[in-house]
Amino acid sequence: MAAGRATERLRELGFDGPLVLFTDEPRLPHERPPLSKQYLRGKLPEGRLLVRSAAFYAENAVEVRTSTRVVGLSPPERTLTVAGGERLRYDRVLLALGSEPVRPAIPGRDLPGVETLRTVEDADRIRERLRLGARVLVLGAGFLGSEVAATAQEMGCEVHLVEAGELPLGALGSEVAAWAADRHREHGVRLLTSTTATRLEGQGEVEAAVLDDGTVIPCELVVVAVGARPRVQLAQRAGLRVRDGVLVDGACRTSVPEILAAGDIARFPSPGGTTRSEHWDSAQLQGRHAAEAMLGPVQDFAALPYVWTELYGSTVQQVGTWAPARPALLRGDPASGRFTTLQLDGGRLLACVAVNQYPALKWARQVMESGTLLDPDKLDQEGPRVWSEPSSGPMTLRLD
Ligand SMILES: Cc1cc2nc3c(=O)[nH]c(=O)nc-3n(C[C@H](O)[C@H](O)[C@H](O)COP(=O)(O)OP(=O)(O)OC[C@H]3O[C@@H](n4cnc5c(N)ncnc54)[C@H](O)[C@@H]3O)c2cc1C
Repeated sequence: MAAGRATERLRELGFDGPLVLFTDEPRLPHERPPLSKQYLRGKLPEGRLLVRSAAFYAENAVEVRTSTRVVGLSPPERTLTVAGGERLRYDRVLLALGSEPVRPAIPGRDLPGVETLRTVEDADRIRERLRLGARVLVLGAGFLGSEVAATAQEMGCEVHLVEAGELPLGALGSEVAAWAADRHREHGVRLLTSTTATRLEGQGEVEAAVLDDGTVIPCELVVVAVGARPRVQLAQRAGLRVRDGVLVDGACRTSVPEILAAGDIARFPSPGGTTRSEHWDSAQLQGRHAAEAMLGPVQDFAALPYVWTELYGSTVQQVGTWAPARPALLRGDPASGRFTTLQLDGGRLLACVAVNQYPALKWARQVMESGTLLDPDKLDQEGPRVWSEPSSGPMTLRLD
């Protein structure tokens, strides 16, 4: 995502030098969000996942080298090496290597039928096992695990969703998390919280998961969705500063200024420290920002964090950064399926999560971007319409 957007932006800005995009995947830059949603359900053909068509790259003289892994970077010589040994000189490099799923070190994790989800191939393998009545266990009820569980349930599978925390989607605050738990249960997903799988068993392929209290859950598919790690190995070997991500400044520059980083891999300065995002919106914005920074001075990257997820036809959107310990305000009624939660610090709005309530999300974004201070006691007067307006025009990636 970040690399695709960066190449687009470089050409938009008039850069007319040679531009090469390497990817170790066999296809052009593409969208991942549908891989746990429409694509996994079989409702979206693979061709619709592309960020841009092959014609776009050809017309814009972007040489895309698919199935080509970059294995080395030498900052002193300004060269990069691809698998097979070919070396190329560069003036600027953007590292947009994304992240890779974590596989917990439990016995049986490599059995056939135990999958993680990052690529089209992963989604294809998972979909093959999502047959009517198939028994599926999803480990981890964050964004990805919750979506996969909902998709599997909608496809007629028997689903167990196993979460170590107290609720699914805990990162979005307890109100939204409790609502999500109700949705899973209402749709027939067996949600098991405060527990985890300690062993996966099977002769030849996975047949059961064993939980920490000894419960055995028979299953033909386990989808592990317990988080991802930034792909920092290349940066580390090149001597760049790395700390759970490649450290960059506000212009996406790493500790070697000709090498930039964007997307899941990049760790940016933020008030009080650094931050890294593993979401679609920041990946594409950072890709564009990095392209601008390659060509001239830019202001520091300062886009508001934004993330969305989909659950049983509901859209959940968050803008800002949710802090679990801070008290939340609730507007609307979760039981109605349309509500909003907010976190304020003094009068400053820090985060908003809107469930099927796009007008509230839009209002919150405007308040945050303009720096408007709110009076928590007058919240219902300051944003009265947005709590009740029907949702329209969701800001999510809609490909179907
Ligand atoms: C299934 C799924 C669903 C998601 N749904 C949502 C969602 O609903 N909402 C949301 O906000 N976000 C979602 N995300 C997250 C979002 O897709 C990512 O944040 C985004 O793709 C990150 O973009 P990126 O450019 O950093 O990395 P990627 O899109 O992962 O691209 C990195 C590319 O670099 C390649 N690469 C890695 N190492 C090398 C190398 N050495 N040489 C050559 N190529 C290499 C990788 O193979 C990959 O093609 C989802 C992610 C997944 C996996």
